[in-house]
Amino acid sequence: MPSVNPFSILQTQRTYLQKHLQLKGTHLLDYLLEKNVITPRQLEDIEDIPQTSKKISKLLTLLMKRPPHEFEHFMTGLEGEQDHVKDHLQGCLDKVSSEENCNIDVEMEEDPESMDEFTENDCGDDTDDESVESDSEEDIGQPLKLIKEFKMDPEEQDVTLHVKVMKVGQVEEKSNKRQFMATVADATSAVDICVREETLFDKFKLEGCIILRNVTWTGRILFTKPSSTATFAMEFRVPKEVTANAFGTGDPVTISKVCSLPDMSWFKLRGKIVKQSPLTKRKCFGKVLSYCQVKLKDDTGSVYVDVWGDIAEQMQLGKVVEVGSCKKRQTSSPDDPCVTTTTKSSVKFLTSTLLKQIQKDRRYQRGTLVGTDVTLYMSCPNPRCFRYQLTDGQCESCLRQIPDRDQLNYGVASIDILTQKGNIHSLTVYWTQLLKFFRLFKKTQPGRDKEKIVKTFNDLWNKTVKFQACGIVSKFKL
Ligand SMILES: [Zn+2]
Repeated sequence: MPSVNPFSILQTQRTYLQKHLQLKGTHLLDYLLEKNVITPRQLEDIEDIPQTSKKISKLLTLLMKRPPHEFEHFMTGLEGEQDHVKDHLQGCLDKVSSEENCNIDVEMEEDPESMDEFTENDCGDDTDDESVESDSEEDIGQPLKLIKEFKMDPEEQDVTLHVKVMKVGQVEEKSNKRQFMATVADATSAVDICVREETLFDKFKLEGCIILRNVTWTGRILFTKPSSTATFAMEFRVPKEVTANAFGTGDPVTISKVCSLPDMSWFKLRGKIVKQSPLTKRKCFGKVLSYCQVKLKDDTGSVYVDVWGDIAEQMQLGKVVEVGSCKKRQTSSPDDPCVTTTTKSSVKFLTSTLLKQIQKDRRYQRGTLVGTDVTLYMSCPNPRCFRYQLTDGQCESCLRQIPDRDQLNYGVASIDILTQKGNIHSLTVYWTQLLKFFRLFKKTQPGRDKEKIVKTFNDLWNKTVKFQACGIVSKFKL
């Protein structure tokens, strides 16, 4: 059992109780006396006080010294006559237990969805109360936020939190500043935080609870800034499934559900790789990473996923995989998949007997050519490297340094295809497919010259073509 005394709620709800708690004409005090929560002497003392607000203050002060199990008597004393007060306190208790001490109800909750509902409703209640109390002199300072309340918000904002430190990374030096990454959680969710203020370093102890103030949420992670503070705070427990849900490491979601998840949610995917683009390199947050796109399918549907880094290199067409820590996102281009892997993602290969009824997707799609753009780049002479560019003469694929005289010029086209449904679909076409495309239409090879390539396309507007693609075109036919 959590060790927090439920009577402590009377302190945070003092203003509310001053307004709503009734002593006169109710049986509350008599009931508390009957249950030995207050003594006859204390009752007399309370009754001797002329002002109601001071009577209530006195009672609350007395109650807060009582042992936790007697809180039940206080709640029963409210029953029937002051149910609204009782319900309010219960709501606050539930919320506080999720903030300050893991609530046993939440912990035992098996269905994460109803847990979400529960927390959201609860937060709603609380906001109302805050607005009621906002002009009270006792209610100053910043609102304590739950991670769930801002996590899905892509906008930068400052937050104050009561969290538990779940993970602390190594201190590293970045632009002459020491920093480390940590993971913090409350009862609603978890996030990563980049700790850049040395004054805060000693506050981040594994399993320690802290109040963090003035930390900035960027939509991806929290950042500390010079005005951020951290104080050691009341301990609480974080149920395992909270971090699992927060970072998508729990149970996989069925693919048909992915579309209805809100942007920025994390989840685990399970499916068969029915389509896969060739491996390339792409820039992601300033880093050049291995990249491919896959189409994952299960019995309920299919989804395209941008796969980055080591995991991209492990993808294999036809395999059944479980990819953890995937994230739903808003894409800059409607052709980009709305699901991406993250730096936390991991892949697990499952037995091929799973989803064995699902076939690789070799269907051709069809559309007409309506737009194009071409980019030329220098590449390595190794034929396997033609999709990779050179960075300062180094091949992104085989990492060899390529002397100028050996460098080859390639073109990659981005083509817009108008589908029969009237959608425009943007696809990437690398050099070998580009040449095949021109050959299909009996065009002479334009050479590695951007203007000539674009000019060759000019004769092909509105031509219908069939293609197999997963972001990148792997085959064309007429
Ligand atoms: Zn190479």
